[in-house]
Amino acid sequence: MKLEITRESYEAMLGAALKAAPLEACGLCAGNDGAVTRFYELTNADASSEHFTMLPEEQFAAVKDMRANGTKMLAVWHSHPETPARLSAEDLRLAYMPDTVYLILSLAVNDKPDLKGFTVNDGQSQPVEIIIA
Ligand SMILES: [Zn+2]
Repeated sequence: MKLEITRESYEAMLGAALKAAPLEACGLCAGNDGAVTRFYELTNADASSEHFTMLPEEQFAAVKDMRANGTKMLAVWHSHPETPARLSAEDLRLAYMPDTVYLILSLAVNDKPDLKGFTVNDGQSQPVEIIIA
């Protein structure tokens, strides 16, 4: 499986991650046919460097906007300010949507942001190829 992400959406993710660091940032990615065309930056209600919770009202507003624009939610995104772009045990536990890509942008290595994607089924993760186009 692969996921395309527009450069503009990728830049928006990177901006959100850098702005929130050392806390985790979170957001949703929308588009069609396996191509992300819009990134929604959401507030991490946990204000934590190790986990995140999306504000429900912002999540609802983003999904409503996707519907209004004829797009679908393709990915759930968050940043790892200090750890690699891997799903943590908690990320795996909370990844309950089998058709959604879980994206993690790691800032662990200075000047080398690392974006990785995974799908999760029954607690097992599979890598997703990410193409920034
Ligand atoms: Zn995480």
